[in-house]
Amino acid sequence: MSDDPLPFHDDPWWHKALTLAFVVIPLALTVYAIVYLWGNGIGWLELGLLVGGWSLIGLSISVGYHRLLTHGAFEAHPAVKATLLAFGSMAVQGGAADWAATHKRHHAHADEEGDPHSPLEGFWHAHLGWLFRDRFVRSGPIYEELRGDPIVRWIDDRFALMATIGLLIPGLIAFAVKGTLMGAWLGVVWGGFVRVFVGHHITWSVNSLSHMFGRRPHDTEDEARNNPIVALLGFGEGWHNNHHAYPTSAEIGHAWWQLDPGRALIRILEKMGLVWNVHRPHEDEEPEATAAADAAETAAS
Ligand SMILES: [Zn+2]
Ligand SMILES: [Zn+2]
Repeated sequence: MSDDPLPFHDDPWWHKALTLAFVVIPLALTVYAIVYLWGNGIGWLELGLLVGGWSLIGLSISVGYHRLLTHGAFEAHPAVKATLLAFGSMAVQGGAADWAATHKRHHAHADEEGDPHSPLEGFWHAHLGWLFRDRFVRSGPIYEELRGDPIVRWIDDRFALMATIGLLIPGLIAFAVKGTLMGAWLGVVWGGFVRVFVGHHITWSVNSLSHMFGRRPHDTEDEARNNPIVALLGFGEGWHNNHHAYPTSAEIGHAWWQLDPGRALIRILEKMGLVWNVHRPHEDEEPEATAAADAAETAAS
């Protein structure tokens, strides 16, 4: 841990403004396009495929890729695990083991040297640029360990297939409703490609905006912040200061008013007996204990 103060506090205002604009403008233009084209290429069916698709797939990224696979925040029935990871793959954010290994590294080195996507290296890098420069930790020991689980390996090996299925399903649903090839294509466009684009922006906003804008109720050793808007769009992920304080907690929203659909899903699955050993904040380790353990693991590797 560096003793230097983190430079965000004296970040020039235009840097934050640019950051916000870069995230908000594409999403706002998507909304504008939907309104502008309404009734002519998009209607309730296509909007439903976009919102419904992201709900299912974004929730699977949060609960499956992130809370279950990366942090081991709970244990799950193999069928539940396979379903969550398969739907998570449809977000086209990389294979499950790759995604989880990269994210483990983010926790181990949050906002320090070695963090794959800290805004300290600039917003563009945190939001998107890291994908092209610091191409992951594939073949590293954490990645290999994650793939030691046969379910993870099976799905990880079929990432491209899952991603393609994620594009085809909305097309098939739209074809079943409208019965035309043009109808099917519009289903693929809105429920597939636009949904992937919107989902990318929302997930990456956790890495960028939630390390820049929001309150920090827990004094973590990084810049993670609680951002209600990212939380709303990202199924609870935006309570990111909570998450960095208690990374192995299955519940990222702590207070009842901190909306966290991922927490709701895990509670339902727990009641059904499909998930167990659910970690909750404050009852596991001290804040950041796991991050420190991960750091030790990475340093040892
Ligand atoms: Zn973070
Ligand atoms: Zn995490």
